[in-house]
Amino acid sequence: MTLAFERNGSLCVEGVSLADIAARFGTPCYVYSRAALTQAYLSYTDTLRAHGLIDRAMVCYAIKANSNLAVLNVFARLGAGFDIVSGGELARVLAAGGSPDKIVFSGVGKKPAEITEALKVGIHCFNIESASELTTLNEVAARLECIAKISLRVNPDVDAKTHPYISTGLKSSKFGVAYTEARAIYRHAASLENIKVVGIDCHIGSQILDPAPAAEAVDKLLALVDALAEDGIVIEHIDVGGGMGITYRSDEIAPSTAEYLAPTLAKLASRKEKLIFEPGRSLVGNAGLLLTRVDVLKHGIDKNFAIVDAAMNDLMRPAMYDAWHEIVKVQSTPVGADDTPLQKRTYEIVGPVCESGDWLGHDRNLALNEGDLLAILSAGAYGMAMASNYNTRPRAVEVMIDGCDAHLIRQRENAAQLFALESLLP
Ligand SMILES: *Cc1c(COP(=O)(O)O)cnc(C)c1O
Repeated sequence: MTLAFERNGSLCVEGVSLADIAARFGTPCYVYSRAALTQAYLSYTDTLRAHGLIDRAMVCYAIKANSNLAVLNVFARLGAGFDIVSGGELARVLAAGGSPDKIVFSGVGKKPAEITEALKVGIHCFNIESASELTTLNEVAARLECIAKISLRVNPDVDAKTHPYISTGLKSSKFGVAYTEARAIYRHAASLENIKVVGIDCHIGSQILDPAPAAEAVDKLLALVDALAEDGIVIEHIDVGGGMGITYRSDEIAPSTAEYLAPTLAKLASRKEKLIFEPGRSLVGNAGLLLTRVDVLKHGIDKNFAIVDAAMNDLMRPAMYDAWHEIVKVQSTPVGADDTPLQKRTYEIVGPVCESGDWLGHDRNLALNEGDLLAILSAGAYGMAMASNYNTRPRAVEVMIDGCDAHLIRQRENAAQLFALESLLP
């Protein structure tokens, strides 16, 4: 939320004004801050260091939250590992300079071709989500004459108390294996020739603001680790997943990384296993914003609409999860087009896409002129990563601010590129 601050009447990110960014790169434009990405990552490593756990911990950024190569590269340079969910994400991490031996591969439906690629580069661990997947992995590893290291994603059946679409740790979830079945699946895994059991993992949901469910999940994992030891199965690492929430609106205060992790780490301090963390949103969410321009103002009878040049295809979270993003003006414009003082009105902030669900903010009290720039805050996570080309809209440009420099890290697509892979009938 605090990424942009005002200087000389315009919002800035680090040393660059957003008005300058819009003039140089156009809108809609995702803007990220290298300093904010770095700070978020260091909040994890600093917390682990403070608990004396840094030497046996690995922070694996869950790249589905924002997989731009420059973002991945910032984390790779800081020494991060990566949590991937597809062969495409594996290729991205490698292209961005990530180390294969710090990659964990999650996901419920890994294809043999994706498994093959991951085995060839020697990733750290496959986070297995079903008994069937274990069989496939064993077969692929046998064909390649190698050993696949695995962790089992166990469903601890704790309620993360978050949006149902981003709650993943309940019994009813498609993710992971049931807690009560885990021990048997581990025994089966241990019997497979080309599989080596190395870990246990869980991931109970996303945008979690209460530290208690994560600690509760760890308790359950530890009980299982101890039961497995009785079966002669040694768990080398415990992966507690991601899920830490961020502040989207000022009346919803997220705990700091230190506060969120404290109860979890307290349970792990006396153990000997290595630890893995898979934060996504909390590393990138508040390190990015979406810059957009007001194209049309429509003052209606029931409602006022501000039609901006960003839309649901650029930022899907409001349409998909009913998510709330703070929307602020980039420059203060005291007067309207007719030189009279500009009044605040209540606006629906919407995009130009042909869907009633295409909204970015409801009931926002703003004094607007056509042509004004708006910043949609906390848009660094699950923003560009979920963007589509619906309505044949080129996706937004992405820019990374580093001090006083603004780097273009993804060009805007053009229409011809959008249909370049299509063909007419003969
Ligand atoms: C999405 C995901 C994460 C990251 O979740 P955040 O809420 O963004 O921190 C971590 N691990 C797995 C397995 C995931 O699917």
